[in-house]
Amino acid sequence: MNFDELLFPHENVRDIQEQLILKINEAISSGKNLIVHAPTGLGKTAAALAPCLKYAIDYDKVVLFLTSRHTQHKIAIDTLIDIKNRHDKTFSAISIIGKKNLCLQPGVDKLYSSEFNEYCRAVREDKKCEFFQNVKSKEKLTVDTKAALAELNTLNQISTDDSMTVCKRHGVCPYEISMLVAKKAKVIIGDYYYVFHPDISALFLKKIEKDLSDAIIIVDEAHNLPHRVKDLFSARLSNLMIGRAIKEAKKYKYDQITQVLVELGNLLNQLSNFNGDERYISKDVFVDKVNEVMDYQELIADLSFVGDAVREEQKQSYIGSITSFLEAWLGSEEGFTRIISKQEGLREQMIILSYRCMDPGLSTKPVIEASYSTILMSGTLSPTGMYRELLGFADALEETYQSPFPEQNRLSIIIPKTSTKYELRSPEQFKEIGSILANVINSIPGNSAVFFPSYYLRDRIYKEFNYDCKKTVFLERPNLSKLEKDELLEKFKSYKDSGAVLLGVISGSFGEGIDLPGDFLKGVVVVGLPLSKPDLETKALIEYYDKKFGKGWDYGYLFPAFNKALQSAGRCIRSEKDKGVIIFLDERYTWSNYHRCFPPSWNLKTTMLYEKMIKKFFSNNA
Ligand code: SF4
Repeated sequence: MNFDELLFPHENVRDIQEQLILKINEAISSGKNLIVHAPTGLGKTAAALAPCLKYAIDYDKVVLFLTSRHTQHKIAIDTLIDIKNRHDKTFSAISIIGKKNLCLQPGVDKLYSSEFNEYCRAVREDKKCEFFQNVKSKEKLTVDTKAALAELNTLNQISTDDSMTVCKRHGVCPYEISMLVAKKAKVIIGDYYYVFHPDISALFLKKIEKDLSDAIIIVDEAHNLPHRVKDLFSARLSNLMIGRAIKEAKKYKYDQITQVLVELGNLLNQLSNFNGDERYISKDVFVDKVNEVMDYQELIADLSFVGDAVREEQKQSYIGSITSFLEAWLGSEEGFTRIISKQEGLREQMIILSYRCMDPGLSTKPVIEASYSTILMSGTLSPTGMYRELLGFADALEETYQSPFPEQNRLSIIIPKTSTKYELRSPEQFKEIGSILANVINSIPGNSAVFFPSYYLRDRIYKEFNYDCKKTVFLERPNLSKLEKDELLEKFKSYKDSGAVLLGVISGSFGEGIDLPGDFLKGVVVVGLPLSKPDLETKALIEYYDKKFGKGWDYGYLFPAFNKALQSAGRCIRSEKDKGVIIFLDERYTWSNYHRCFPPSWNLKTTMLYEKMIKKFFSNNA
């Protein structure tokens, strides 16, 4: 096969990459869907973009490359520039990150996405955003818009930085301008929700004048898609939110709304009057309670009006957020669960009413069915059949590829001792985990990272571990900003010769999405299994998936936890030349019901002689 014909951007195609390109080409040539588990290092971005772009040019389609990571936007644009340079092709492509991150209004970074959407809507409707106002005048593009478009169109492959810089210079909204550019683009790089959120998707497709039937959708890091979609459709209300909304109403002197919110808070208190921490609650129980105080729909209308007025003053409005919750609560029963729970807070008890989406397929299935072809790819998309069922593919080609990295560069060990299982947690257990962990870390030359299921477990084990550990310890704090995260990583990297250990959490800032190539990371330890809390939501999920797929335990509990553990483990080997050890520390990894979740290509050794094995591995690979 001549890979130049498929616009491959590099001179050489690697073996497994070749198979991947051919498989993707086969899928799009026949309008089929494809789900691929393709480990790190295969060059997935180039392998997917090249044949899809070629097909889009030849058959007048558009490629929607969806990713949740900003770094991946840049990689995709750089790949497209390589394609253009190597093949002298003229085509347009644009990267469009989330609207909030494109916004030129100051201070919006402090807002949650839902708050930002409401804020942006309000300022546009009230004609209070100068950047939006400057895009069009009397339905015609302004001089500034035309100038920005002319400048951007000279670039062909347009990164987010390009759009922001040009739009800032001309005083126009980068999101609106990006949409205008996207009309002519062959490749659009965007976040999942541009396509998988029904309301946003309808608007997005209308603005860019494209139809899903002409779209080749590539979902990158697709293991994130189910939970990202579920989160999009979930909502929660807490007494804390109501308290803040009351302060807001008082501040702007909305006395009647203050009174209504106080009653809403009382109502939540009454509903929390039960034994235990949580229980299911029906839609009607809450709606009827609200109706006793005031008409539910009237309440939504009043709060919405006041929320908009507050946003004009201070961008963020808790009253507005409560409105969004009340609207969401009226949503569908099928595929959702409603729970009221109590948690001990720092100052007072937290009461939370949640409406949780359990079925991502409700939103992804119609998109997949309407698209020309949808391709899911990730390094942890195993088993592919789970993603096919969860996301609602009627049919799809499925493929699992081996890691392209030399097997001798990686030592993967299960230490069949200790457990973080809830019933087995004890000071003795933590002491033993800490001691084994210190032995492992002291045996690895250079830097290592350890990932725990939670901050609680990390902190308990850290006390024991720190006593025996001979390396400098870095502790990841929850909710690090991007800057703090980068600073911590840079400092950590500087210890590559003397050796340091980073203690983080599997679902924290470093468990996914960081690359520490070469000597920056020599070992990763995954402590325990990051299984979800066996709470009512998990129970509902297991029951729902059991009913729908006959696989509740696997799809609702076990596989998601395993994939998280494998994601963290994958931080160690990021390139062909990387050498390192990966350790799974928990006896459950050897149990057959759990062990079957490892992809078949993992050459795992179960041993208590781990120190000897690690030392031998590094002396052989010195
Ligand atoms: S219209 Fe554009 S610039 Fe104005 S608030 Fe919305 S995203 Fe920001």
